[in-house]
Amino acid sequence: MKKADIKAFKEQLLQLRARLLGDYNYLAESAMNRHGEETAGGTAMPIHMADIGSDNYEQEFAFTLLQNEESTLDAIERALEKIEEGSYGVCDECGGKIPKGRLRVIPYASRCVKCAE
Ligand SMILES: [Zn+2]
Repeated sequence: MKKADIKAFKEQLLQLRARLLGDYNYLAESAMNRHGEETAGGTAMPIHMADIGSDNYEQEFAFTLLQNEESTLDAIERALEKIEEGSYGVCDECGGKIPKGRLRVIPYASRCVKCAE
């Protein structure tokens, strides 16, 4: 892969990482705020699992997103590492080339389409 291409992908990865870190903070904050609302709701009673019910779904959803973003961040870190190693665009599993078209869609892809399936 050309240096210019790698530079463009690196920039894309850094931007994506910054954006995800912003979202991550936002999500962590909103999840915490929700928790605060529930505990500051007036009752001093401890919250039992049965009392939480469906209202907790949204909070769980936020935490799920959080986890996904963490794994995306891991993948971005890994891709940046590969750029430093000079192995960016090479499949982690089979050592084959990852098509540029795939990297444009998922710049943090560390495996080719075949291996990712
Ligand atoms: Zn592969």
